[in-house]
Amino acid sequence: MSTLPFRVGLGYDIHRLEKGRPFILAGQTIPCESGPLGHSDGDLIFHAVSDGILGAVACEDIGHHFSDKDPANKDLSSSVILEKAIAMAAAKGYRLAQVDLNLILELPKIAPHRDTLRTALAKHCSLPTQNVSIKARTHEGLDALGRGEAAACQAVVLLTSLEEDE
Ligand code: MG
Repeated sequence: MSTLPFRVGLGYDIHRLEKGRPFILAGQTIPCESGPLGHSDGDLIFHAVSDGILGAVACEDIGHHFSDKDPANKDLSSSVILEKAIAMAAAKGYRLAQVDLNLILELPKIAPHRDTLRTALAKHCSLPTQNVSIKARTHEGLDALGRGEAAACQAVVLLTSLEEDE
């Protein structure tokens, strides 16, 4: 891989919501009457960040590495996906340095949980909390996101070359 000092990745994830499903974000269960439907645990934050990391080092996408056709990935904890993405970036000579997220959802309200989510994501990414940002917004009542039928997450990640650490 070329020796760029930095690489940027754009991640995205969206899940349909279903009543009675747990709402898991950054490995934390957030109280909500509905939650993401998915082959795995549907963790929007871990999926979007993993997607961004894979994009930054041009390593396909989550669906390529964790097919929803593979029974082994059924109800998979998404921290496994994030760990694999971080390891793949390291194999290419890069480490995660910063994450900025947009959660787009009507419910649950994120503000009361923001600090918990930032701390959890920072821990899983081995980053200081100040390098992890979690923003949230509604979709103003528009389309499936606005009707609360789905929730989405966008992530921008910055990776730095491990050579810069030397
Ligand atoms: Mg997903």
